[in-house]
Amino acid sequence: MSITANARFYPLHIVMVLMLVTSCASSLDENALAQASSKTDKAVVIAHRGASGYLPEHTMEAATLAFMQGADYIEQDLVLSKDNVLIVLHDIHIDTVTNVEQVFPKRAREDGRFYAIDFTWDEIQQLYVHERQNLDGKQVYPERYKGNSRFKVASFEQHIALINNLNRIFNKSVGLYPEIKAPEWHLREGKDITYTVFQALAKEGLTQADANIYIQSFYPNTLKRLRDEFSVSAKLVQLVAENDWQETSADYAQMMTAEGVAEIAKYADGVGAWIPQLITPDGKPSGFAEQIEAEGLVLHPYTFRSDDLGVKLQDGNVERKATSHELLNILFNELEVDGVFSDQVDHVKSFLIDASQ
Ligand code: CA
Repeated sequence: MSITANARFYPLHIVMVLMLVTSCASSLDENALAQASSKTDKAVVIAHRGASGYLPEHTMEAATLAFMQGADYIEQDLVLSKDNVLIVLHDIHIDTVTNVEQVFPKRAREDGRFYAIDFTWDEIQQLYVHERQNLDGKQVYPERYKGNSRFKVASFEQHIALINNLNRIFNKSVGLYPEIKAPEWHLREGKDITYTVFQALAKEGLTQADANIYIQSFYPNTLKRLRDEFSVSAKLVQLVAENDWQETSADYAQMMTAEGVAEIAKYADGVGAWIPQLITPDGKPSGFAEQIEAEGLVLHPYTFRSDDLGVKLQDGNVERKATSHELLNILFNELEVDGVFSDQVDHVKSFLIDASQ
């Protein structure tokens, strides 16, 4: 890992506010724009792990920047600490985003990994967060934030307080978009994270249908429990993985059939699909988005990353990478998605503002 014991740390006092730039001209003709505008007017942008394209993911600073960039929702991935604090962290492991291996070198499990659930909240507060690294210590997105500021792991409670305060001060209504991570794994470790998240949301009055929140999970049973066992009527989103990711025990191939989507509609309000599930290799709709819309579910695909678009288009016989504008055009104007998760909220906002004019 890149943070050395004697490295100098510089506090990040000020989060720079990036101005929205509406510079790129749309290639759509005016008729297409007129048709597109009704849907793009309503489309939402979900800050994926906060403004993770600019600042280390899930930190309070990244959430603050996402707020100032105009996010409609800010995502919090949730895992539990040893003492049952909900912490905002994407993985059950804490080693790829913090200096845990330097602060607590002897606390890895037999597989060499450091697990958030093995550390108390007080211990986690002794760590610093850095840009996401691979297990070999290389930064995953090399052009993103460099350096070792004193970013901290934040709790769900801290994120809620931050967003509530910013909403009050700026007279805005930015919503929460928490994800309950690895519920089956948490249960095997003796912790019912679904119930803990329910308690946290109930305390904040965020379980009602009109609450400004979407609650997401890859595990269908977690969403069904929220609805049936805990009477949560707030909006629920079923995330759809690929089976070979082994995200949960659910069968995602089955979930992507017409019957599977109809089943989702029985317990959820929306679907968080992986972008490549929606688009064929030659850039056409796969049919999955249509099925989701036919069931009356909202569609919020993940993840639009300007620096890692991950979608290729077929130009005659030539395969090439899609541009940002092309991918956003496919998502919003062809697939007519209701919103998108993005590491770069500002880029998606610019596109939507252009498309609505
Ligand atoms: Ca997530």
